[in-house]
Amino acid sequence: MSHLKINRVEKNYGAFHAVKGVSLEVEEGEFVVMVGPSGCGKSTLLRCIAGLEPITSGTITVGDHDITRAEPWDRGVAMVFQNYALYPHMTVRDNMGFALKVAGRPKAEIRAAVDKAAQTLRITEHLDKKPKALSGGQKQRVAIGRAITRAPEVFLFDEPLSNLDAALRSQMRVELGRLHNQLGATMIYVTHDQTEAMTMASRIVVLNGGVIEQVGTPLELYNKPESLFVAGFLGSPRMNFFDGRVLESRGRELSVEIPGMPGPVVVPLDDDVPVPQPGAQVRMGVRPEAVTLGGALELSVALVESLGRETLLYLEGGGLRTVDSESAEGFVAVQLPSQHQLRVGEPVKVGWDPASLYLFDDSGRRLAT
Ligand code: ATP
Repeated sequence: MSHLKINRVEKNYGAFHAVKGVSLEVEEGEFVVMVGPSGCGKSTLLRCIAGLEPITSGTITVGDHDITRAEPWDRGVAMVFQNYALYPHMTVRDNMGFALKVAGRPKAEIRAAVDKAAQTLRITEHLDKKPKALSGGQKQRVAIGRAITRAPEVFLFDEPLSNLDAALRSQMRVELGRLHNQLGATMIYVTHDQTEAMTMASRIVVLNGGVIEQVGTPLELYNKPESLFVAGFLGSPRMNFFDGRVLESRGRELSVEIPGMPGPVVVPLDDDVPVPQPGAQVRMGVRPEAVTLGGALELSVALVESLGRETLLYLEGGGLRTVDSESAEGFVAVQLPSQHQLRVGEPVKVGWDPASLYLFDDSGRRLAT
């Protein structure tokens, strides 16, 4: 039986539908990360699970308890917020033990729970300080510690690392992963940070406009996106997209005409999709790391970003333009796994393995991955 079950949950704010009938089952011990563009409803859904927002319809269960209408403190969930939400007048120890104190637990038990959580999070030396004497990273550890002492069935995290600088964020990513392993706890984590999603999740849920686009392991979503939306959402730099038209099909190979390409592009179709008709509008995708030097496509360098261990190129030329790209100019993004001395304006030849191409129909549905 799944540990957390969200069944057809809807959340309306007046006439606005923020969450539109979302169903999701989370197994015990899973680390589920919810991602999606700003306003897609991920925080709202998390707040619904936490009981901070009453839901319009649907049910939420934890284990065999229906918590749909339970009070926030009575759901077996604990939430960690982006802005820490610590009580400023209390010491770290009192902050971390507060929920147990309110629940009327014996002092010795509270003390032991706080000491253990502090040890796990390596904040024992700060237990007698007030939050204002702590750094952002330390405050976030206290906020996590406050959740741990409650020993919840499910941990909820709402962008907990967004206020930290880049170095601390990557350190905390590792620590949260370690904590998850150590506690074996069920965790639901909301973020807009792809790296957090890709590195920490056992499964990623991609939300878009209040509905789930796709659920899967990070690599399933990255390698086999079901839709144009998921393909474009995961991956940085973003997948290159080109609009094209189907010329003909031979068996399960499709010839696609793309303005600016020297000849038709041949794309092997996936097994489980219908073959599109000649003339159909399609969108082809190729990830920046799948574009390699040496090939039939001659472009020129518009921009070079040398990142040390890798080089990002943005290429242009011959009327070839990417659509819906990171650069407004429609450049082709290329990610090379090594150092290259290339100058702006220099000609380069590129190509790709046809097996690395993606194709989507005009409704955004996958045809080839
Ligand atoms: P972000 O990454 O920007 O936080 P999100 O995916 O977490 O985005 P939500 O905060 O869940 O988005 O908001 C989803 C939608 O619901 C947004 O369009 C938002 O404006 C709307 N919304 C959220 N809370 C309320 C509210 N209390 N009243 C009315 N509309 C709201």
